[in-house]
Amino acid sequence: MQTRAPAEPEVREFTAAVVDIDDRTVTLDRTYFYAESGGQPADRGTLGGIRVVDVQKDGDGVAHTLATAPEFEVGEEVTGIIDDDFRTYCMRAHTASHLLYGAGRRVLDDLGYGGFDISEEKVRVDFTTTTDIDDETLVELERLTNRAVWESRDVSWEEVPTEEAIDREDVAFNTKTEEGVMDDADTVRIVEVEGWDVAACGGTHVANTSEIGPVTVLDRSNPGEGLTRVEFAVGPDGVDRRATQHRALRESAAALETNTDDLAATAAAIRSERDELRDRVRELERAAVADAIDGFETVEKDDTAWRLGTLDGVDTNDAGEAAKDAVGDAEVIVAVGDEERPYVVVAAGTDSDVHAGDVIDDLTDVYGGGGGGGPPFAQGGGLDASPAEVLDEIRDWESAE
Ligand SMILES: [Zn+2]
Repeated sequence: MQTRAPAEPEVREFTAAVVDIDDRTVTLDRTYFYAESGGQPADRGTLGGIRVVDVQKDGDGVAHTLATAPEFEVGEEVTGIIDDDFRTYCMRAHTASHLLYGAGRRVLDDLGYGGFDISEEKVRVDFTTTTDIDDETLVELERLTNRAVWESRDVSWEEVPTEEAIDREDVAFNTKTEEGVMDDADTVRIVEVEGWDVAACGGTHVANTSEIGPVTVLDRSNPGEGLTRVEFAVGPDGVDRRATQHRALRESAAALETNTDDLAATAAAIRSERDELRDRVRELERAAVADAIDGFETVEKDDTAWRLGTLDGVDTNDAGEAAKDAVGDAEVIVAVGDEERPYVVVAAGTDSDVHAGDVIDDLTDVYGGGGGGGPPFAQGGGLDASPAEVLDEIRDWESAE
């Protein structure tokens, strides 16, 4: 005996005879409790006044697991009450997934069904499609789904011969929901949203799409090869999420001193301006460092001009790049950061006979810190000396290395 829930989803209370009891697990001669299947969770409710904690298919029957072992006995009539809020939520959420799939038929190429799941907070539908579901496509799926809700389309279901259903090209198969049903039945249940979607499905559905209410798409992801997952919410969670999105949109527009219609264009323009300004600032900073190096004092050692000085507010990398750019073939540039435990960068021209790495080694031998490099360029940092002491040390060297 299969559950009658998919055929008569509006039933919330029924009586049935108890056929079997195994500790907390009860089998009835008929039931309207939905057994967990194909992504739709089991119904909640009570049986003989005891809370039903799980409902599962059990061979040809349905096993109801209760919170406690029942007092009633086999052969007795008991009353089953299905939790109205949760069932109604599942019916709305489930039918919404058919609307989303129907929307997918209109905007996605090579569409196929990849899976489906209802949780208390959200519903996910997995599509197989060759279309990249980008932001615009995602928004269009949501828009079409909500239009189909508003259009108040009738939803109907009927059993048809399995062969006939498989031959119909317009039927989407929720193979997980139909697991078992397809295997051992001559008929399959076809659920049709008038003019919108046809699917083989064993779940519970509302009779008209207007019952679904607003559908809010939450996100999209790629759970596996060739699959795109779209998550959405119906009911209070969906409404709250919509409010959160709306608030974020308005706050962003206010922060950028524009309106919501112009938000994207304004944000793009501000970002482009930010990038230009950042480039301009970098250019000016580089020019300022080059100017500072131009102003360094020159100390002659043998035939080499050593240009020495400090750089204020310039980081090691920028100082190093500027020194490399500025150094002449017969020159050495030594720039020291104007800070406690300063850095030193050394750029040595190719005709200078000075090895920049040796200069850094000599300085770190005297003042500690660390660093190194090759003949044309080297840098060190964390020297235990003031910038002036470092420059004095170099001036005192008898000759170039
Ligand atoms: Zn369904």
